[in-house]
Amino acid sequence: MKPASSADVAVIGCGVIGAAIAWRLSQLGMHVVSIDPAPGDGATHAAAGMLAAVSESDFGEHDLTRMNVEAAKAWPAFAAELEAESGRSTGLRRCGTLTVAYDSGDRAQLRRLLDLRRQWGLDVEEITVDTARHTTPLLGPRIAGAIWAANDHQADPRQVHRALLAALEVRRVEIVRRRAVGLSRAPDGRVTGVADDSGSRHPAGTVVLAAGWASRDLVRDLPMAAVPTRPVKGQVLRLDSSGHPDFTLDHVVRGFVQTRSIYLVPRADGEIVVGATSEEQPDDRIVTAGAVFALLRDARAMIPGLDELPLIEATARARPGSPDNLPLVGASAVDGLVVATGHYRNGILLAPATAAAVTELISAGSIPTSAADPRRFGRDPTPSTPSGGRI
Ligand SMILES: Cc1cc2nc3c(=O)[nH]c(=O)nc-3n(C[C@H](O)[C@H](O)[C@H](O)COP(=O)(O)OP(=O)(O)OC[C@H]3O[C@@H](n4cnc5c(N)ncnc54)[C@H](O)[C@@H]3O)c2cc1C
Repeated sequence: MKPASSADVAVIGCGVIGAAIAWRLSQLGMHVVSIDPAPGDGATHAAAGMLAAVSESDFGEHDLTRMNVEAAKAWPAFAAELEAESGRSTGLRRCGTLTVAYDSGDRAQLRRLLDLRRQWGLDVEEITVDTARHTTPLLGPRIAGAIWAANDHQADPRQVHRALLAALEVRRVEIVRRRAVGLSRAPDGRVTGVADDSGSRHPAGTVVLAAGWASRDLVRDLPMAAVPTRPVKGQVLRLDSSGHPDFTLDHVVRGFVQTRSIYLVPRADGEIVVGATSEEQPDDRIVTAGAVFALLRDARAMIPGLDELPLIEATARARPGSPDNLPLVGASAVDGLVVATGHYRNGILLAPATAAAVTELISAGSIPTSAADPRRFGRDPTPSTPSGGRI
């Protein structure tokens, strides 16, 4: 039984994952409180927003790819409903994704990935360099191969987050701008609420842990509910093509340039996101000269016209990594605690599916076993059976 003043659910973290969960729960009429000192200022702030289930798929990540493909299907309805409820755009752009190879070594790498993706039944085709040049006249002179993923689209994570905050306001979800410092527990061990850094306590029937890579810190005293997230630093640039009518790019362009991967994500308003580094480093938020140089070097090898564009932003944030690159979504080994973190490179893509799974778990009491089951880690791991790629 929850105390009378208690929320139904307290969500720790209000990035894209926590905000999407809080919104979906509030739509069911639940009393939800969201706790975050800086909503939206984590990985969500840096993310490029590629919904790249196919273009992200890689060797050893079949479960993740199946999950991403399922999650991508949820995006159009999620965006439409969020836009209707918030009155704001999500920047969803059904644009497709071109991936190019810079030299013959990169082409061999691209073909290996193409074979793998075909084996997995993914929607991807090899196209000629001439066709790639036709659809993307900005491509530079040195392109050795190309593939096209027609259903890999994009959304703008900052717009999505702003829309979620507006929807939370509509649903009267209280956002407490404090850092969670601990979990309250009943004598029987059940999690019963959250303590914040002002000393306030927020009792709740269920607590959802969605604090990105920092989620691990909240369960340090609960070894049976291990949440082994870690920061994986990403640096990303934003350029502005709005004053350059000759610079027209209407789909995502990714590439391998001498084995290094690079991407350009063009927004409808002319913003071009160029990313990203992937560094086993803490979330120090420091942009380094070397990273800016390397990103621009590889991006302009694909699209030389970038040279003319104003560089308007350089950002560093950390992705919530997990040991097997799969997210942790579902019940923990401790009653009252649900986990939704570890979304690593795909948290924007996975947000609608994660919110749906957590909402089903809290409202119906259970969800089908999935490869994302957080209990695969911890003291007594529960073996999980992937089921049809859903979270
Ligand atoms: C450079 C870069 C590019 C990316 N590109 C893509 C992409 O193209 N497509 C894609 O799908 N994904 C992408 N990602 C990954 C995606 O951004 C993440 O997976 C996603 O944002 C994770 O969302 P989250 O809400 O779990 O974490 P975050 O966005 O990090 O949010 C966590 C929140 O928790 C809060 N918090 C932390 N500690 C506490 C505490 N103690 N108490 C309360 N609150 C706390 C933080 O303030 C923050 O607001 C990218 C990430 C980076 C860094």
